[in-house]
Amino acid sequence: MFAAVDAPPKRLKILVGGGHPGDPECGCAGTIARFTALGHDVVLLYLNRGEGYCKGSDLSQCGAIRTAEAQKACQILKARALFTSQIDGRAIVDNPHYLEFQHLLEAENPDILFTQWPIDKHRDHRALSQLALDAWLITGKKSAFYYYEVADDTMMFSPAEYVDISSPEIESARRAACYAHVSQQPDKWYPQQVELTRFRGSQSGHPQAEGFLRHWESRTAALFPSDQK
Ligand SMILES: [Zn+2]
Repeated sequence: MFAAVDAPPKRLKILVGGGHPGDPECGCAGTIARFTALGHDVVLLYLNRGEGYCKGSDLSQCGAIRTAEAQKACQILKARALFTSQIDGRAIVDNPHYLEFQHLLEAENPDILFTQWPIDKHRDHRALSQLALDAWLITGKKSAFYYYEVADDTMMFSPAEYVDISSPEIESARRAACYAHVSQQPDKWYPQQVELTRFRGSQSGHPQAEGFLRHWESRTAALFPSDQK
């Protein structure tokens, strides 16, 4: 028997949290596409359904419109969408919501957890970041824990690990996933994010890269080791 030698590599479970539909895609779509291309299981967890803004449509329609956009982006990235019970622009960080996040993390039990940076400009991003950190700590820091950045919103961020997202297939999936968020006018923010990933690429020896910061108490070696130079 050759089971030990021939065993396939472990299928990882990866959870990418975002304050709104479009945030995980903006900050991590290239990395998500790299993981799903290898057959790993990726879930995009949205704090809300984007009820607060959808250009050109009545506000009452935004939740439905942006849920559909998020589903489409996930389909492009071969990932799965998940939503918490919060409302866009009215994020609540209190005990019941900490508990909701904790239960969610226990149910999904990821190998890697990505979240937004706690010093983002948008309060929903900061709320998501706090909820994710708390759930990770309280459930025993089981997963690797990484912060990601989004252009124009993330402040004071210095990544330490990078993922090469410059292959044409990855670049095209990344772009399509971001442009699935039609109501968010991606022409206004996608070019800035590309500028940022070019800069991160110049820091890491790749044409384009997404940059991440691992929590110091997180376990290591989760992101494409050969991309770290
Ligand atoms: Zn956002």
